[in-house]
Amino acid sequence: MIQIPQSAQTSYNTSQKQLEEAAAIIELDPAAYELLRRPLRELHVTMTVKMDNGRTKIFQGFRVQHNDARGPNKGGIRFHPDETIDTIRALASWMTWKTSVMDLPLGGGKGGVICNPKTMSTSELERLSRAYIRQLGSFLGPEKDIPAPDVYTTSQIMGWMADEYSIMQGKNTFGVITGKPLALCGSAGRGDATARGGIYCVRNASETLGLNLAGERAAIQGYGNAGSNAHKLAIQLLGMKVIAVSDSSGSIYNPDGFLYDALMAHKKKTGSVTFFPGAAAISDKELLELDVAVLFPAALDSVITKTNAPDIRAKIIAELANGPITPEADAILYNKGIYIIPDLLCNAGGVTVSYFEMVQNAYGYYWDEEQVHQRLENKMKTAFLAVQQTSQTYKVHNRLAAYIVAVKRVADAMKLRGWY
Ligand code: NAD
Repeated sequence: MIQIPQSAQTSYNTSQKQLEEAAAIIELDPAAYELLRRPLRELHVTMTVKMDNGRTKIFQGFRVQHNDARGPNKGGIRFHPDETIDTIRALASWMTWKTSVMDLPLGGGKGGVICNPKTMSTSELERLSRAYIRQLGSFLGPEKDIPAPDVYTTSQIMGWMADEYSIMQGKNTFGVITGKPLALCGSAGRGDATARGGIYCVRNASETLGLNLAGERAAIQGYGNAGSNAHKLAIQLLGMKVIAVSDSSGSIYNPDGFLYDALMAHKKKTGSVTFFPGAAAISDKELLELDVAVLFPAALDSVITKTNAPDIRAKIIAELANGPITPEADAILYNKGIYIIPDLLCNAGGVTVSYFEMVQNAYGYYWDEEQVHQRLENKMKTAFLAVQQTSQTYKVHNRLAAYIVAVKRVADAMKLRGWY
């Protein structure tokens, strides 16, 4: 029997629990609830790849299409040694809710391949990426299912996949995948879109709370794409001081705040934020519990639990990571009056600019960075207000409000299509 890792079970159970709660509040039709509890389709594929040593290796992969009532499925592809179908199912359903809460004309999907890219050469990765598309090609398409990068997949991998799909179609079909390099019809502004969307949400939250964030402190867990860009933009757009950051090697603290360019240069040179000159080493627990205006979890899931939630002192938690707060911790933080910007909303800037990429690919006409930022800001504001209004109407916390907005929209589309 296949063992499902704990984290996969957690994500799957959490996604089911969140849907159940929202469905009960809006008194969702039982048939609609049953439909939304499971993916509409999933494909399991086996791939053969010639490795550099001349041997053939067999890989297993998946693509899950959770729900396309509102439009084609959209969601990333992960390359990870611990990938499981249950994680992919949970992530696909979160994409349905994320695209719905942002009111994008899309559904939710997710894909994965069980592999360890860190031990593979560039040419082996290219052959695996192309093999995955050959096996799944007929399942994908700009009007069916549009993948994007996720854990351990890059814009270069998206480029190979778009090329392989175009070969299968006999014509350039770049719109099949987003997160492509700019030179291959990617979108301006995609690089920092996730963090930027989160920062726009923080700005909206501060207005709601009547908080002036200029000069206030922030802490960031995780210093990859989402976390490092949050550092840059918290300074640039909010005038904040980032006093603590971390990565998988450790956490650092400086009460005067870190300069973005200097810290990035250090990270590039040494591979980590640790041992940055003038910074004190702190524990991950201490970082999460700092007295800051905004805490950005931007690394892993389930890092704020019922154990550490009572000690969290941030005024706002902006969830750039997916699922960083467990359901038990959610209730504790809500009762403490901490304002949480839920992942469905807070990190949806990435998929929103991916949608912009699809639109630009379909038009064959490309926007400049300023236009992308402006359109993203408008979308984030509209979604933020919808969640906030729903939270007031139903007297529920923001996460449940985001679910209510999302589930209602998908259920309405399914009803109008005659699915129940
Ligand atoms: P990434 O791989 O670029 O960065 C992850 C960072 O987390 C790295 O700096 C890594 O060192 C750090 N990290 C790993 N383990 C850690 C630990 N125990 N403590 C502290 N830091 C640790 O990934 P990313 O794209 O920035 O994604 C981060 C989170 O944001 C994930 O949950 C992801 O699902 C979510 N997210 C990302 C995007 C996006 O567009 N990049 C979009 C939506 C959601």
